Amino acid sequence: MAKQRSNCSLLGLLQFLSIITNFNKFITTLIANGRSADIPTLRIVVPASLMNLDTKENRNMKSLSKSRYTAFCQCPKNLWLGVFKRDEAVIDDAAKARFEEGNVVGYLAMGLFGNYKEAHAEKPDGSLDLSAMIAQTQQFMAAGVENICEASFSIDGNYCAVDILRKNGDGWDIYEVKSSTYHDDKTDTAKHLLVYSRDIAYQKWVLERCGVKVKGCYLVRLDSNYVRGKELDIQDLFHIKDMKELVDNEYLKVPTNVKRAKAVLAGDEPDEPVALHCHDPYDCAFFQYCTKGMQYPNVFNMYRMNFQLKCELYNQGKIYYEDLRDENLTEIQRLQVETSLNGTQLVTPEDIREFLKKLTYPLYFLDFETMMFAIPPYEGTKPYQQIPFQYSLHWIEEEGGELKHSEFLGDSVLDPRRALAEQLCKDIPKGVCTTAYNKGFECGRLKELADAYPDLREHLLDIRDHIVDLIEPFRQKMVYLPEMNGSFSIKHVLPALQPDDPALNYSNLEGSVHNGGEAMTIYPLIATMTPSAAAAARESLLKYCWLDTYAMVKVWEKLREMATNN
Ligand code: SF4
Repeated sequence: MAKQRSNCSLLGLLQFLSIITNFNKFITTLIANGRSADIPTLRIVVPASLMNLDTKENRNMKSLSKSRYTAFCQCPKNLWLGVFKRDEAVIDDAAKARFEEGNVVGYLAMGLFGNYKEAHAEKPDGSLDLSAMIAQTQQFMAAGVENICEASFSIDGNYCAVDILRKNGDGWDIYEVKSSTYHDDKTDTAKHLLVYSRDIAYQKWVLERCGVKVKGCYLVRLDSNYVRGKELDIQDLFHIKDMKELVDNEYLKVPTNVKRAKAVLAGDEPDEPVALHCHDPYDCAFFQYCTKGMQYPNVFNMYRMNFQLKCELYNQGKIYYEDLRDENLTEIQRLQVETSLNGTQLVTPEDIREFLKKLTYPLYFLDFETMMFAIPPYEGTKPYQQIPFQYSLHWIEEEGGELKHSEFLGDSVLDPRRALAEQLCKDIPKGVCTTAYNKGFECGRLKELADAYPDLREHLLDIRDHIVDLIEPFRQKMVYLPEMNGSFSIKHVLPALQPDDPALNYSNLEGSVHNGGEAMTIYPLIATMTPSAAAAARESLLKYCWLDTYAMVKVWEKLREMATNN
């Protein structure tokens, strides 16, 4: 049955959003737990590449959809694999999180123009009933509905669902909703917008062939400049861009592209070399499939090498480090290749000693855990802002002194930032030396906290200004071990420096948190857990973050050893 929503239900949803910090995950949890809640129904939509459209029946039809069309524009093989070998797709947690955010953003945007109706129907097996959705759309249009969400059309095996189809005089406007952000007009170049232009051009082409007069084409994204007030204001949250000119350019290419895409679907697996298109505009989920059989380490592990160059070398058969010796490499890349092939390491005690002089007592080791949401959850936050909810702090008062520890973890219900900032100012005195690993992240969060809380500003900026980056000796080639393999992240550096200590192995951590991604996923869910599950999740978070700063202490100790033993 088609869904009818109004401003009224949207208002209820927004009020709900204002008290629930992680709306989408909360809803997912409710559904996963099989519980019902007095809230509007939210469909959980699977990734576009794995859409229900790709049922066996539809696959045999070799039909196109807007996601298949854009997949073809990225790479013909991507389209073919997505239809015929989709089990080979590797979708990482970050991509899954993006899809999930996209669902929430799309849902919110439905109410952008007031009352609306949504075309939605499912078959008994849970897959989308496209024929029923197309029929609903026709009924809505005939009945004079002004705003139709998921407006569905199909002609000659070309299907599309328009996010919002809006009546405009004697025609209709297309609104394509994305969970990406608008920054400013300067960054909105035609190249940047190309992927959206293609998508909308395909929709316009399908609609016009179905006899619908398309008057305007618009792109709806989150405005990165939006700062949430007490309530969420979706009119200000979303930025609407007129895409007519850009879409007109792409529109002319649609008939040829559709013909070529259908030929791809009618044929065997295409032969396509890896190239820039594997990462641009989106990371292709089939990259592992297309490079399968490749051993580790290889050219794609090279430190800060341009991706296009990596692909060129790969396609020339220069895959492994021994094949790269004669290439024009940077100093660190050469170090990476030579230390790996020769089993050597680089340690420069003099430079390390100079670096260690910057680390004075009392010495603090700080690490934040953060979360981010497409829809800003708290007053004063922006779309996709990194919101700190936890920190771990180790410190040593004096040479040979005891290692002490302090920590903060929010309650997962209230905005954690103020309490976190207050405790941090108590835990770290002004004027002392603090270390962070890859300090740009910690410094950025401290600056944001300082901006949010003027009374704590001076202290927070003082902490920031006294941070020394523990990554420096590795980035500046004072120490290089082959096991680092071109990565200076602490998750690579620590096992290279301390290979035999199981207590420093993140995979040995008990509980559900072993990395930052898991921490940011689990934290907001605590508010919805049973008391025992919440206690276990908090324990896991605390252990994980503790290890992050303990690892920094161990890296510092190892540097001291290297500086004195050589
Ligand atoms: S990995 Fe690259 S070559 Fe392979 S399907 Fe994806 S985009 Fe095409």
